Amino acid sequence: MTSPILDYEPDELAGCLMSAGWPRYRVGQLRRWIFARKTAEPAKMTDLSKACRAQLTQLFPTTGEGENRSLFSGELAAVSRGGDGTQKILLQWPDGQRVEAVLLRDDRDHRTACLSTQVGCAMRCAFCASGLDGFVRNLTRGEILEQLLRLNALLPPTERLTHIVVMGMGEPTLNLDALIPALAEATSADGLDIGNRRVTISTVGRPDGIRKMAAMNLPYKLAVSLHAPDDEVRNAIMPSNRGWGIDAVISAADAYFAATGRRVTYEYILLRGVNDSADQARRLANRLNRRTAIVNLIPYNPVEELAFRRPDDAAVLRFARTLEGEGIQVKVRFRKGDSIDAACGQLRRRMTL
Ligand code: SF4
Repeated sequence: MTSPILDYEPDELAGCLMSAGWPRYRVGQLRRWIFARKTAEPAKMTDLSKACRAQLTQLFPTTGEGENRSLFSGELAAVSRGGDGTQKILLQWPDGQRVEAVLLRDDRDHRTACLSTQVGCAMRCAFCASGLDGFVRNLTRGEILEQLLRLNALLPPTERLTHIVVMGMGEPTLNLDALIPALAEATSADGLDIGNRRVTISTVGRPDGIRKMAAMNLPYKLAVSLHAPDDEVRNAIMPSNRGWGIDAVISAADAYFAATGRRVTYEYILLRGVNDSADQARRLANRLNRRTAIVNLIPYNPVEELAFRRPDDAAVLRFARTLEGEGIQVKVRFRKGDSIDAACGQLRRRMTL
């Protein structure tokens, strides 16, 4: 059995189909159906000959039956929608493993896909639902791309995805071999044509992974989940930090900025009584002093099984103002998606409707 069609690099796919007798322009037609016309079902690819459509179902694994037979390898196990227009999908892969991905809408016409890169996560951040059940496996290139295409297909025909944040389940720097080719498709003109600057990869802050990304000179933005001003708090809520320490995280992020010229975002989840005091804001500012960086404050999104709490709005404001008073650029992230557990740190392997 061959691999799912989305696992193929564009040249590999062209080679495979041309050796099956397809002229090159037909390969372009197929890619247009999949990427621009939001269709993975050969029966709907009406400008391909019947023979070509039949060949697709013979050459590549499919899911579904009859007219609905699809070149996607996953099955849509559930879709939910929140009041703010956020939609969350649960995809099940052929091995039974599941991941969630999220479509976020905002009033600036941004249509953002939040992607997962792994089934589960080994990093075990104490505030996060994704790591609760541990790590199972990396997602493939095709599985990452399929999340994007599925989310794009939820949009009306006149709309398409404009942004990508790799902030779902898993630690992206541990699966760059699949993620980077998937993002290349997402940003290519004959793929989803999403601007490079509209793609953000968010990491727990593995220095080796960040330095590897810096060496690749990627065109994407980097977001580092810092969540603490010092090793004491960071070790307590992000056990992976014990292996490297906060200074190494920030210096790797500096290397990414030096290599790519892309300003780094530091994500900071505010946990009541843990990392949200004015003193901690001042210490965070000291650490980031004189850096071209921005701090993205995220008031915690509660997870049922976890004891952390969200600070009240006054505490969030105090933290933000203190940072700004120290010359740090700050954004407070809107609470998109928390009505359906689709907000940061809440994705998991089962749909909570
Ligand atoms: S916050 Fe990210 S890195 Fe940490 S456990 Fe959750 S998914 Fe993994």
